[in-house]
Amino acid sequence: MCGIVGAIARRNVAKILLEGLSRLEYRGYDSSGMAINNANGVHAHRAVGKVQALKNKCEEAPLDGHIGIAHTRWATHGAPAEHNAHPHISNDRIAVVHNGIIENYESLRENLIAKGYQFASETDTEVVVHLIDTYLKPGVSLLEAVILATKELRGAYALGVISKEDPDMLVA
Ligand code: GLU
Repeated sequence: MCGIVGAIARRNVAKILLEGLSRLEYRGYDSSGMAINNANGVHAHRAVGKVQALKNKCEEAPLDGHIGIAHTRWATHGAPAEHNAHPHISNDRIAVVHNGIIENYESLRENLIAKGYQFASETDTEVVVHLIDTYLKPGVSLLEAVILATKELRGAYALGVISKEDPDMLVA
């Protein structure tokens, strides 16, 4: 069973997110990851296995920002592998973590590929982030883009979303 953590704070949220993931470890998972928004955009680390593997990556290349999302994954679509671990990212500007299943992901994936999106994973989740990207335009907030995207999703799911276009917003 996967877990999602999100944080907004005046200090760097990296430690808060890692602490949150550690508290969720008892639920079981196969990989973990986190994304943080800062002045330079969205940055992420992902790792297969224990949250400690993600902590190691964060020590080697620290992430620093005041808003972020994190995830422990229990794979349903796509093998437990780093390229399938969350967060998934679209256009270097939106990051999504997802708990659950998107039942209609195959048709959404075909439509998005026809629009030119390239998929980096075998997950159902990746359609969500690219779909939000299709809606996120000047004059449309991240929240509005997520609401529009979720109207197209079928299934049972929970999401955490951040974007460099709306650097102070975390949509859950
Ligand atoms: N269905 C998604 C995946 O396979 C999310 C799984 C989960 O809830 O951890 O990546």
